[in-house]
Amino acid sequence: MAKDDLECSFCGRKKPETDLLIAGLDAHICDKCIEQAHGIVLEESKQGGAKELSSDLMLSKPKVIKAFLDEYIIGQEATKKVMSVAVYNHYKRLLQPKKDDDIEIQKSNIIMVGETGTGKTLMAKTISKMLNVPLAIVDATVLTEAGYVGEDVEGILTKLLQAADYNVEKAQRGIVFIDEIDKIARKSDNPSITRDVSGEGVQQALLKLLEGTTVNVPPKGGRKHPDQKFIEVDTENILFIAGGAFDGIERNISKRLNMQAVGFSASQSEDKIERTNLLKYIIPKDLKDYGLIPEIIGRLPALTYMDPLDEETLRAILTEPKNAIIKQYQRLFEMDDISFEITEGALNYIVGKAVEYKLGARGLRSLCEAILTDAMFEMPEGEETELIVTREYAEDKLNKSTISKLKAVS
Ligand code: ADP
Repeated sequence: MAKDDLECSFCGRKKPETDLLIAGLDAHICDKCIEQAHGIVLEESKQGGAKELSSDLMLSKPKVIKAFLDEYIIGQEATKKVMSVAVYNHYKRLLQPKKDDDIEIQKSNIIMVGETGTGKTLMAKTISKMLNVPLAIVDATVLTEAGYVGEDVEGILTKLLQAADYNVEKAQRGIVFIDEIDKIARKSDNPSITRDVSGEGVQQALLKLLEGTTVNVPPKGGRKHPDQKFIEVDTENILFIAGGAFDGIERNISKRLNMQAVGFSASQSEDKIERTNLLKYIIPKDLKDYGLIPEIIGRLPALTYMDPLDEETLRAILTEPKNAIIKQYQRLFEMDDISFEITEGALNYIVGKAVEYKLGARGLRSLCEAILTDAMFEMPEGEETELIVTREYAEDKLNKSTISKLKAVS
């Protein structure tokens, strides 16, 4: 057969009508049919994914969820437990067979109260990883009521759609983590604000999403693309997890508990212990007194708290989680055939500095970067095949870095 007579076995196009014709054993396929077939494969795998999701979820009992969280997150036992049960119930609700009785299981959205850097975002990220559902992380501080400068509340769903590669089905089963929810608390002590742009209005707008509603979402977000076609997203089955530091809420708690607020003279460590103990006793009323509207609190029924990170926890965070910072550096050096070791003394030194500079867990990474940058710059081209970071080494590198200047600030 002449080359030009060859044709696509699927659509019948002759070779000259195609850009590319690929030969198989007994057949040929053209570029157009390959593209179409690829589309079908993608579509199928998306649907297959949804099926897989349900059976996975069925299997994940609360203890299994908790064990997964344990691999990535140190401590925070109370939150892990609440989170495991809430997530389990939430997805059980999704998978429940339709029954005629009037029992309707309501959503178990979650709110976590705790200092910044204690792992709230990590908790949401880990849950989404485990369930293999898309996650959108949004900062409540940038949200405004529709019409004000800032991001409309619908923007949250734009982010979720993007995280789901615009697969609406997937987005509708996703997780939204709203950080700094405390920053949209009603500021009742500020009468000069005629319209509460950043407070109650936003809470009202947010409430609609939490309650479950259908929203027309601009797929590319906000006002920069006025001509885009909206995508309809139903928020009924989206799990919302909110987090906030709620600075000073322990005063509300202590007032309620009829205890004396922690005085300024209390030493730092006592202060910390008090705070841990007090957050433990948090109840929805404390959130209301802080300025969240009761309707929002009602829609975030699983309330839990985070423990502040002590030295022991920080030390564990460095080496224990599945993708612990030190393990990451080990991998990075390994890729250049360098064996990387860090001594107990150096680890304790880093933890000590994180506490001293009040950097929390987030600071651990910056400290490690400061200590290891020289080695990561020099070693890939050098002769050395081993790096042992001792306390002296760490101290020396850190003293030469800008991070040590933090001392003056704190
Ligand atoms: P938050 O959202 O409470 O401000 P993050 O979840 O962003 O805190 O935590 C900041 C970083 O600190 C995370 O990336 C993580 O590496 C680390 N971290 C914080 N708490 C923990 C923890 N309990 N276990 C493991 N890592 C933690």
